Order: sequence, then C-alpha cells, then structure tokens
Amino acid sequence: MFNGILITKEESGYRAAVAQMDEAQLPAGDVSVRVSHSTLNYKDGLAITGKGPVVRSFPMVPGIDLVGVVEESANPAYRAGDTVLLNGWGVGEVHWGGLAQKARLKGDWLIPLPSGFTPQQAMAIGTAGYTAMLCVLALERHGVKPSDGEILVTGAAGGVGSVAVAILAKLGYTVVAATGRTKDADYLKRLGASEVIERAQFASPGKPLGKERWAGAVDVVGSHVLANVCATTKYGGVVTACGLAAGMDFPATVVPFILRGVTLAGIDSVMCPRADRLVAWQRLVTDLDVAKLGDISREVGLAEAIPLANQLLSGEVRGRIVVDVNR
Ligand code: NAP
Repeated sequence: MFNGILITKEESGYRAAVAQMDEAQLPAGDVSVRVSHSTLNYKDGLAITGKGPVVRSFPMVPGIDLVGVVEESANPAYRAGDTVLLNGWGVGEVHWGGLAQKARLKGDWLIPLPSGFTPQQAMAIGTAGYTAMLCVLALERHGVKPSDGEILVTGAAGGVGSVAVAILAKLGYTVVAATGRTKDADYLKRLGASEVIERAQFASPGKPLGKERWAGAVDVVGSHVLANVCATTKYGGVVTACGLAAGMDFPATVVPFILRGVTLAGIDSVMCPRADRLVAWQRLVTDLDVAKLGDISREVGLAEAIPLANQLLSGEVRGRIVVDVNR
C-alpha cells in the first residue's frame, strides 16, 4: 500500500484527497519508481481543483513531475537503484502521476537525475523551471544576445517566471520583471531582475504597435499581456510564449510580425523530444544558481499540497512548491 493524492469524479462531485492505494492499481509501465519528491505546477493546480480539463480519466493521481528511485525495471536503460526524473508526457493527466509514493511509468519518459541536483533541487525547478530553460534556449536559438537589450519576463513571481529571471540574469541579460506583486520586488531583484514593473500596464487592450523596448520576452500569461508584449518588442526581437495564466486567447494583430519582424516562438514542455530535455536539464546545471532555489521554493507534504492548488491558481504562491510525498 502507498499514499498519494487521488482525484475522483462522481455524482457527488470532483474531489482530490490523500488516499491509500494498492500497487495493483498502478497503471501499466516498464519501470516502477519509489517517488521521493514531486511539485505543484500550474497544471497540477488545475488538475487538483478541477478548474481546467487537465485530468482525462478518473480516478487519477496528479503530478506532472517526479523524482524517485527505480524499484523494478524491465527497460534496459534503467536498473533498480537508479535515481530518475520525469516531466510531462501526459503523466498526471492521462497516466497516474508523481503526487504519490509510488509510480509505474514508461522508461522512455524518464531521464537520469542530472548530477549536480538533489531530488529536492530538481523538483524546485520542475516543469516550470525546465520550461523557463526551454524559453531561454529558444531566445538563444533565435539569436538574442545580452547586448541586444532588455528581456521582459511576465508572471515573474510565479514558477516559470522566477526561474526565467534567475537564468537570464546569470547569463548576463538585463531582465525586466513584470508582476502583479510589486511587494515582491526585493525577491525579484535578489533573483537578478534589474527592474520590476507593474503587470497592469500590459493587461488592457493596447495598440497594434507601441514604443519598442524588448529585445526578447518570456511570457507565461497570454491574452492581452502577450499581445502588448509583442506590440512593444523591438525590431527583430523574439517573444517566447509558454503560458495562459490570464487566458488562452491572443487578441493581437499581425503588425509586430510583418512590420518589425518580431518572432513569436511557442514553447511546449510536455511532448518536448528527449534530446531537447537532456540539453535543457544540462543547461540548468550550468546556468541556474542553485543557491537561489532556496529563495524560490518551499517544501510541503502531500496533504498541504491540496489547499495550495487553489492559492497557486489565484497567483498567491511565490516561486515554486516542492512536495515531499513521504511527509
Ligand atoms: P504560477 O507559478 O502560478 O505563475 C503564474 C504567474 O502568472 C503568477 O504567479 C502571476 O505572476 C501571473 N498571473 C497569474 N494570473 C494572472 C493574470 N490573471 N493576469 C496576469 N498575470 C497573472 O504558474 P507557473 O507554473 O509559473 O506556470 C505559468 C504558466 O505557464 C501557466 O499558464 C502554465 O500552464 C504555463 N506552463 C506551460 C508550460 C508549457 O509546456 N508550455 C510549462 C509550464 C507552465 P505575478 O504575480 O508575478 O504577476
């Protein structure tokens, strides 16, 4: 038997609670993992609260991230005792996920825990931080250099935003952090932001083009914010879009793209090919100051993660939540 968060949907309604489960209930897979830590991402918040259609079959164990030790493996790439990391691949959505003490998974979804990170540090990064790294890699791939000018990070005090600010600052970029929580300006400056600005200035419908400011951007918010970021990006600049914290709409015009040659780069972490994941995690080892993870993250147990899901979706959680599934 093992403990985990179990989501059920019955006539009585949608419910997430800590439950005891039997290993016989675990889904099919060629690697069994004793999970040590998971996390709470925005998508886990949607799954636990039922506020977004993330869970596709019930009952479901949420948790799109996990770190743990292999207990049994029929996959030649892994042996009992290996420490492994998983992000995405529909785990916690269609396949039982990481917010439990045990998981059974496809070995192809796993990567070895990068040396340089403890299990807690890897989960302090989690999908949010690995997505932030994918955004930075896309800016680099499109040729954005520190000398090109300011990089805007929206939703900066959240999970993706916090890690993006820290990575970009370490790489020498000038980072401007847009947040609804200017009371957290000191936190964002400690992570490396050179300026903290109010997100309200991006929130309303704006003009097709505004004053050019950003050489690049990491946007986690979508909707009018993404439209206004594109409209104020400099000639030839690059905007990476990975989130929808304010909505999945994109009320923009093509003008920034056809008159200023702005590139809008879409970022997906879930089905991202394994080779790209390995590069992203290796770059996290070299380009994220692990000392900052203590400021970015805090640790909770399984039961505490459930009420935190609502707070996360309301934008009240700063940085990242690590879940010790054995606490
Ligand atoms: P998070 O920790 O909740 O951070 C989101 C941040 O967005 C909040 O902290 C808040 O930052 C800001 N925000 C929230 N509601 C807002 C609103 N109505 N208007 C403007 N800003 C708002 O979530 P996360 O884990 O960083 O994820 C952020 C987004 O990225 C989510 O939409 C998530 O689904 C998406 N995501 C996508 C991928 C992918 O593969 N594409 C991977 C990971 C995450 P401030 O308080 O600083 O303003």
